[in-house]
Amino acid sequence: MVSYKEIGLVNTREMFAKAIEGGYAIPAFNFNNMEQLQAIISAAAETKSPVILQVSKGARQYANQTLLRYMAEGAVEYAKELGWENPQIVLHLDHGDSFETCKSCIDMGFSSVMIDGSHLPYEENVALTKKVVEYAHQFDVTVEGELGVLAGVEDEVSSDHHTYTKPEEVVDFVSRTGCDSLAISIGTSHGAYKFTPEQCTVDPETGLLVPPMLAFDVLEGVEKELPGFPIVLHGSSSVPQDEVATINKYGGALKAAIGIPEPWLRKAAESAVCKINIDSDSRLAMTAAIREVFANKPAEFDPRKYLGPARDNMKKLYIHKIVNVLGSDGKAQ
Ligand SMILES: [Zn+2]
Repeated sequence: MVSYKEIGLVNTREMFAKAIEGGYAIPAFNFNNMEQLQAIISAAAETKSPVILQVSKGARQYANQTLLRYMAEGAVEYAKELGWENPQIVLHLDHGDSFETCKSCIDMGFSSVMIDGSHLPYEENVALTKKVVEYAHQFDVTVEGELGVLAGVEDEVSSDHHTYTKPEEVVDFVSRTGCDSLAISIGTSHGAYKFTPEQCTVDPETGLLVPPMLAFDVLEGVEKELPGFPIVLHGSSSVPQDEVATINKYGGALKAAIGIPEPWLRKAAESAVCKINIDSDSRLAMTAAIREVFANKPAEFDPRKYLGPARDNMKKLYIHKIVNVLGSDGKAQ
């Protein structure tokens, strides 16, 4: 049993309270490898932004849960080395699928876990979330629950349609489970293909596809029921069209990849939404940079020569999100 406090991590409680108060949101970036972690930490250190490092089931399978947890411990020291005196870093389990998975992460030093019972019947979701909360709170680990189902595909999590969160359920769910934050479904979606072109309209000025508007009325309904309670948005990549264009220019084949417009996320960040999950955008930034090197320098075979530019491109993206979308810069001095 390792306490996250011993390795310099923090839970989400204070971070979220400040974010709601201040009208901004904390970035939750998924990581699977060293370059991605370096990019996240150096972006957060440079902008002095609190940050949530997320580990998905896919990441645990790809990189190994133990290794990822030690990388997070290393990340705290790396942040200090970069001159960030009091790094505010959370190590969070993304989409925990069982009590056992959550327990094993808590025992290993994670400071926050998500238990995703959103696919279960309501009463089973309540019971499972409550069980995780009871275990986690003994160690001051914070817990994210979920109500409503997001469409899209993210590692092992997938659904072909949305079920919006029902605002009339949230008070009962939060009070009976004791969860610290709640992921809701208001029309964001996992993956880089969030919407079909048929679901979108064309912006007459730019010619770009605009997805259906998020259900801000559902968010407002939730906020009215649970004033000041931390709300989480999953599936909130924006799928930057310049990265998609670079990928396709250098041999990629991403067709009609569409994300959530950044001004909509900015609007959400100003509300009770205090954690915004971004994964696909970083995958796109990494892939675009690597494809460009491969196309322009076909003789290159030193991985540092393509993973380095990939890291730089991800860092640029993370800084952009922190400063221009979430507004969390300068909030962790
Ligand atoms: Zn998710």
